[in-house]
Amino acid sequence: MDLNFAAEDEAFRQEVRDFLDKAFDDELRAAMKKTRAGYMPKHLHIRWQKALHEKGWATPHWPVEYGGCGWTPTQKYIFDAEMSAAGAPITIPFGPRMLAPVLMKFGSQKQKDEFLPKIQSSDIIFCQGYSEPGSGSDLASLKMKCEDKGDHWLLNGSKIWTSVAQYADWIFCLVRTSNEGKPQEGISFVLVPMDADGVTVDPIITADLPEKGYQEVNQVFFEDVKIPKENMVGEPNKGWTYAKYLLEFERGGTYSQGLKRGMEKVRQIASEEREFGERVIDDPVFRKKMADAQSLIHAMEFTELRVLGRLSQGQNPGPESSMIKCRGSELQQLVSELAFEAAGIKQAPFQPLKWGSNEPPIGPEWASGVGPRMYNYRKVSIYAGSNEIQRNIMAKLVLGL
Ligand SMILES: Cc1cc2nc3c(=O)[nH]c(=O)nc-3n(C[C@H](O)[C@H](O)[C@H](O)COP(=O)(O)OP(=O)(O)OC[C@H]3O[C@@H](n4cnc5c(N)ncnc54)[C@H](O)[C@@H]3O)c2cc1C
Repeated sequence: MDLNFAAEDEAFRQEVRDFLDKAFDDELRAAMKKTRAGYMPKHLHIRWQKALHEKGWATPHWPVEYGGCGWTPTQKYIFDAEMSAAGAPITIPFGPRMLAPVLMKFGSQKQKDEFLPKIQSSDIIFCQGYSEPGSGSDLASLKMKCEDKGDHWLLNGSKIWTSVAQYADWIFCLVRTSNEGKPQEGISFVLVPMDADGVTVDPIITADLPEKGYQEVNQVFFEDVKIPKENMVGEPNKGWTYAKYLLEFERGGTYSQGLKRGMEKVRQIASEEREFGERVIDDPVFRKKMADAQSLIHAMEFTELRVLGRLSQGQNPGPESSMIKCRGSELQQLVSELAFEAAGIKQAPFQPLKWGSNEPPIGPEWASGVGPRMYNYRKVSIYAGSNEIQRNIMAKLVLGL
């Protein structure tokens, strides 16, 4: 296996680094230090996403005819790896990564023309309305009602765990249009403006101490919400097909570079923090935990590179890609737990985010957010389909059990 990147790939890596030096400025770096869940205040996300758009890199994974970059798999990997190694902000994924591929494949020409350019330029932010109270893993049991009223659809029901709904201009929802046949057969896919009459957003305040208005998750209520007929994507009762197609794009990503960055932080904390007068990093038990984590991350990186190698040769990613979400999320949790353990009681002080304030955090700078982030990372093995569900999928589709 040749682990060296080609000269043109190294030149591309430098271009990404040059972009980061300019666009990932001090204000964004300070915000990313504060964030627990990966989200910053909305205006900062928009500023970052518009900088990417200006460079032509807002939606690199889109097909070229829709304004994608036409990058090779290696360039995509380098881009993702450099972004996460730098700790750069995420792009709010629901429009560009999830809805856009669905619109490209199943949307009407009008929907494509209206939404794709605005998603790309971040003039419209979408959120994702799949889960409902009682319908998460068992998504096909969803109940939100969508009635055909002749000239419009009428929506009633609720969506839950909706990430950054308070930032969103639009929401895409799975709704029930029929109770006939199997539950999957009566589901449709609709687009709803968040400012429509009857839509309300209730924040869900979580243990990672977010400031109200900057919460990660919400419950969204729909009470007699009218939407035009043209807001349905594809055909009525075919939404399950579109929903599954979208999930293929939700479960992806590169983990190893972010994990390595996380381990650097663990090393920094363990070098500075002392327990009974000794540096945490000198404790042989903790050192062994760090070494174990490091080798698992190394294995993860090689797995990602193996998948990249296959993709670059035009082959399918293979079964490793199904494992990557499970293993990547477990390692994210492990690294957050090591930081928590190394920080000891310094992870504990109650310190709300206070986005607008310049008050110094309590305790050393490195301790800020270590506790909340560890709690927040419980999410990574739950969202985008829990790891138990991922294992069921692997058992069926990969192992054929
Ligand atoms: C931070 C965060 C953000 C989210 N953002 C969004 C969003 O923007 N939009 C959205 O629509 N949803 C979102 N979700 C919801 C997420 O997709 C669901 O939480 C997830 O699908 C699990 O559903 P549930 O919470 O109802 O748990 P349940 O389905 O009730 O599962 C509870 C437990 O039982 C296990 N389990 C369930 N069924 C099986 C089975 N068949 N076999 C084995 N084990 C099983 C699960 O693995 C889990 O451990 C988000 C969740 C989180 C935590």
